[in-house]
Amino acid sequence: MKTLPVVPEVKVHRPPVDASAFAFRELRDDEFWRSVPAFAEVSRETFLDHLWQAKHSVTKVAKLREVLGDRVSPAFFEDVELGIKHAPMSLRVSPYILGLIDWDDPYSDPLRLQFLPVGSLLLPDHPKLDLDSLHEMEDAPTPGLTHRYPDKALFLPLDQCPVYCRFCTRSYAIGLDTEEVEKVHLRASEERWERAFDYIASRPELEDIVISGGDAYQLRASQLEEIGERLLAIPNVRRMRFATKGPAVMPQKILTDTAWTDALTRVVDKGRKLHKEVVLHTHFNHAVEITGITKLAMDRLTERGIVVRNQTVLQRGVNDTPDLMTLLVKRLGHVNVHPYYVYVHDLVKGVEDLRTSVETALFIEKHVRGTTAGFNTPVFVVDAPGGGGKRDAHSYEYYDRDTGVSVYQAPSVKPGRFFLYFDPLHQLSVHQQRRWADPVQVDFMVSDALLKARQRLR
Ligand SMILES: *Cc1c(COP(=O)(O)O)cnc(C)c1O
Ligand code: SF4
Repeated sequence: MKTLPVVPEVKVHRPPVDASAFAFRELRDDEFWRSVPAFAEVSRETFLDHLWQAKHSVTKVAKLREVLGDRVSPAFFEDVELGIKHAPMSLRVSPYILGLIDWDDPYSDPLRLQFLPVGSLLLPDHPKLDLDSLHEMEDAPTPGLTHRYPDKALFLPLDQCPVYCRFCTRSYAIGLDTEEVEKVHLRASEERWERAFDYIASRPELEDIVISGGDAYQLRASQLEEIGERLLAIPNVRRMRFATKGPAVMPQKILTDTAWTDALTRVVDKGRKLHKEVVLHTHFNHAVEITGITKLAMDRLTERGIVVRNQTVLQRGVNDTPDLMTLLVKRLGHVNVHPYYVYVHDLVKGVEDLRTSVETALFIEKHVRGTTAGFNTPVFVVDAPGGGGKRDAHSYEYYDRDTGVSVYQAPSVKPGRFFLYFDPLHQLSVHQQRRWADPVQVDFMVSDALLKARQRLR
């Protein structure tokens, strides 16, 4: 009998992956909106119409009641009513988002958490918190233009968005006045824009313009094109980004508002011919926001060579676990959106329930890094309160995990200064929470952290 040659055993280092590893590719493609009573009869074609989406966006609790009917309990609406009374942001939610919320469990739904405040879950603000914690108005040479970093500026052409997020950093300006906040209005005004363009042209060091918001979705196609052309014509401007929440809350617009999408495409194409970079920045926070409709919209942008990057806000109960963040990052990559930043939640009024600690951010970052391409791995940043700008969350000079005080420096932005970030009190021990209630202890904790940061720098 012939013996078979001995084949060296091939070592299988990697067992086949479990099907759950592909969850990021499974995008919802059902008619999910039909579970909302008012949208039960709405066809796919109607639901894809951006005008229908805008028209049926909900801005009042009464309207929310009409749309949801008896899908949720009357107590829930009362709770939202109470939440809105104390909210710094006005209400606006798109049908796309309303359709994706799990109305069987609205209290823990990650989209409900972002757009609909409920009074019963609000927490008191941190004692060190103020409105405009980033001091954007202080660094503004003309209204609606913030020049903080050496070579880039933030231009706010208007104060409207397709939705209003509870946690908006710019609650000092964005949206309608609320019972809590009378805002600094930044209306779309050509005259104000001209002053911003003049300033940008007068500063040769400005190469990079962030057009944020407000939201580029709310600009008319002609306005978007005008802003794009004016900025591209300024010789020192080399890069610009149009920022919009749109793809995350109303991807339909990219598919059905052809005038807007074509205007954006023309600006990007013109930039390319001038060897300048024009990209879109957006703001997805949770994997459920990315559906089959999103994929169609992002595919259209990809076909037109439009680069899209994403900025996420880290929020408790929304995306504050390694699994949720990894799923989001992988799904963004799947639809050709580059995860750029994850922000540790700014110190914003009225949303203490949504904040997490720097420690949570560091923990999640460690797990996300290594799951996909480095260029698709977001940098976790703290936007230093007081105008220090974005700092890598890891780069603190000192961090006391017990008191939740972290100290950052920004040598190329505001040399010589220290910037403090404060973890939310609800993530500290009961003992530390008590200290924060005592002004003498508060002063001590803050000066102690600054002292230790100084000592480490020596
Ligand atoms: C975020 C921001 C920018 C852009 O910063 P990048 O780190 O380049 O994304 C520019 N100006 C201001 C005021 C900002 O807040
Ligand atoms: S879309 Fe952006 S600017 Fe508008 S409310 Fe939300 S976070 Fe604020």
